[in-house]
Amino acid sequence: MDFDGERELSAEEVARGERVKRLIMAAVSRCNACRRQYTVADFAVIGHREHLWMVAVSCDGCQHQGFITAVIHGRSPERVQPAPVPLRELTPAERAHFASTSPVATDDLLDLHLFLEEFDGDFSALFGVGKDT
Ligand SMILES: [Zn+2]
Repeated sequence: MDFDGERELSAEEVARGERVKRLIMAAVSRCNACRRQYTVADFAVIGHREHLWMVAVSCDGCQHQGFITAVIHGRSPERVQPAPVPLRELTPAERAHFASTSPVATDDLLDLHLFLEEFDGDFSALFGVGKDT
């Protein structure tokens, strides 16, 4: 696993991020709150570790904000595979939950960014699941 820290994004990575945004826009095409059609400019890639991408979306119409995590496979930047992309609309229960939480603040984005910097892709450790050995 390569950890390069605070390096600049290469043109290839920027292009890959653009593709990821388009893939996510294809799956989440409208604002959950006001049903406005998203444009690619509404999405911002926060970061990624391997196949796990974290993207923020902010509706230009109603300022509704959301986070999308997507697992996007495809090693070659020329062939970003859209599947499997576990994306779906929020359930009513989730919507109620998020409606009661405070809006996303800059600190949250920084925390998330820091988390992704540190995250090594080990979901078992992250969720405290014992490894089968
Ligand atoms: Zn909206």
